[in-house]
Amino acid sequence: MPLSTMKRVLLKLSGEVLMGDQQFGIDPAFVMELAREVKAAKETGLEICLVIGGGNIFRGMAGAAQGMDRAQADYMGMLATVMNALAMQNALEQLGVQTRVQSAVQMDQVCEPVIRRRAERHLEKGRVVIFAAGVGAPYFTTDSGAALRAAEMNCDALLKGTSVDGVYDSDPKKNADAKRFETVTYGRVLADDLKVMDASAVALCRDNNIPIVVFSIREQGNLARVLSGEGTQTIVQN
Ligand code: UDP
Repeated sequence: MPLSTMKRVLLKLSGEVLMGDQQFGIDPAFVMELAREVKAAKETGLEICLVIGGGNIFRGMAGAAQGMDRAQADYMGMLATVMNALAMQNALEQLGVQTRVQSAVQMDQVCEPVIRRRAERHLEKGRVVIFAAGVGAPYFTTDSGAALRAAEMNCDALLKGTSVDGVYDSDPKKNADAKRFETVTYGRVLADDLKVMDASAVALCRDNNIPIVVFSIREQGNLARVLSGEGTQTIVQN
């Protein structure tokens, strides 16, 4: 399906993009920039689901590497993703975009639990639905959460906004001759361990035939360009 004809997408942003130029945490001004990108995309009539990681605050693997129990550390990571979701909700609503946060770890005072049919209704009403806490279980990542929500919400594509403009055959920051793929298969991404998303997320997208669109979220206006079919990106597909 051409990008310009998509009706519903899931946008996955890693927590790190919320840091802006900081080394840690949330830069509210930069979150506002991201929210403007989402608003512009929404104004084209798209239905948008959002998943935001938590790596700008806490990653379970990092905690485990320092001796913490992995599952306990992962729950802390999931809580970090809820903070990011609330920051993005705040920015979007300041721009007049209606949103709902649904968390896979129930947190009644601050957001809804994940309820697919309710999420459907929010999207129909033009709200952006932000899915927090990944899949709600340790040993997973928000990439897997994004793939899962994209599948259950019947999204036409999973858009992965990163700091590079696609998938390369080698690291473009280290190798000047690195070549960007226009399209690449799920199989090649998995076999060559190309750093797109973690393997379980790629496999879930492959099994459900959800294209993964990798693009740079750091350039202003790029999300809307990609969605109109005029951007630079790599599409991971069969
Ligand atoms: N996490 C988890 N289960 C999930 C989603 C996330 O345990 O379903 C934890 C895990 O510790 C992870 C952290 O939350 O490291 C933050 O998520 P992620 O690393 O995916 O964030 P990103 O790299 O996208 O910023």
